[in-house]
Amino acid sequence: MRRCEVVAWGQPLQMREYPTPTPEGSEVLVRVTVCGVCHSDLHIHQGYFDLGDGEKLILEERGTRLPFTPGHEIAGEVVALGPEAADTGVEVGGEYVVFPWIGCGRCAVCARGEENLCPTPRFLGAYEGGGYADHIIVPHPRYLVPFDGLPRELACTYACSGVTAWGALGKTGIRRDDQALLLIGAGGVGMNALALAPSRVPGPVAVADIDAGKRETALAAGAAAVFDPADAGAAEAVRQWSGGGVWAAIDFVGRPETLRFGLSCLVPKGGRLVVVGLYGGRFPLPVPWLPLRALTLCGSYVGTLDDLRTVIRLARQGRVPPIPVTLRPLEEANAALEDLAAGRVEGRQVLVP
Ligand SMILES: [Zn+2]
Ligand SMILES: [Zn+2]
Repeated sequence: MRRCEVVAWGQPLQMREYPTPTPEGSEVLVRVTVCGVCHSDLHIHQGYFDLGDGEKLILEERGTRLPFTPGHEIAGEVVALGPEAADTGVEVGGEYVVFPWIGCGRCAVCARGEENLCPTPRFLGAYEGGGYADHIIVPHPRYLVPFDGLPRELACTYACSGVTAWGALGKTGIRRDDQALLLIGAGGVGMNALALAPSRVPGPVAVADIDAGKRETALAAGAAAVFDPADAGAAEAVRQWSGGGVWAAIDFVGRPETLRFGLSCLVPKGGRLVVVGLYGGRFPLPVPWLPLRALTLCGSYVGTLDDLRTVIRLARQGRVPPIPVTLRPLEEANAALEDLAAGRVEGRQVLVP
């Protein structure tokens, strides 16, 4: 089998040959048919998250070892089952989306179905090897979700950008159709949030992005309004559009400028800012804002296996308009990461081994 690996942090990925593994116990061997390229792959490639003021969260200190295979938006065909994976409903020859946010399976967090929040994660493409490869071992058949009727290159994106968008929409607290929502950043996750929003929040949804092309795509995909955060009057325009401020904003970028913009677009009191993006930096928050503005500032991290099943069910019912997808051969993984880093990608790039 071939893996496209990070062999040195920040250096070009390299294609390497390995013996194809045999699944043991409850494991399943999956032939990867497609793997999406996510923004967090850029951080995994660099080997750190930027905490601001020169501080870094180093992935190697957190348990990610080189050589490392990124990729967590995986779909593929089952080619072999371990002895304990037989008779579970997952069939050799069947094609599935792989749920990558796998926890230890033994702690209380995992037991309540929130493996994505497990303190000792085994996430595929983040801690364990991922889908920039032609084969992958999945620890248990329950992490395989069928997606019949959906194009595989779209279905795979639901494993990260879909569940991340769904999880973040759930944290906005929006219950009424007069509560507006602002999505900041119209990349893969932001566009999936726009697509999923009508199934989760009743209020109108606006999109802010500094890229004119992305704003146009968002409008065409159903955004009620679009804004350019680089405009000095953008926050004022958002407040006017929403009749005094949006009830919630989801920041899919996650840098100090976007947090500041999101906060300035919220209703004066009781608003929520949900941060999803991992761009990095440090943001000074005036502490009195929290009580005086009754402000909720929270983070959202990917989603649960149930979230993935929900998103795929909605997509199969035709309730999730497709996001733009560009297919590229796995050999172009380095160029794909470069294009993503440079902001040249609309929607999602998906690698084909
Ligand atoms: Zn991701
Ligand atoms: Zn756990």
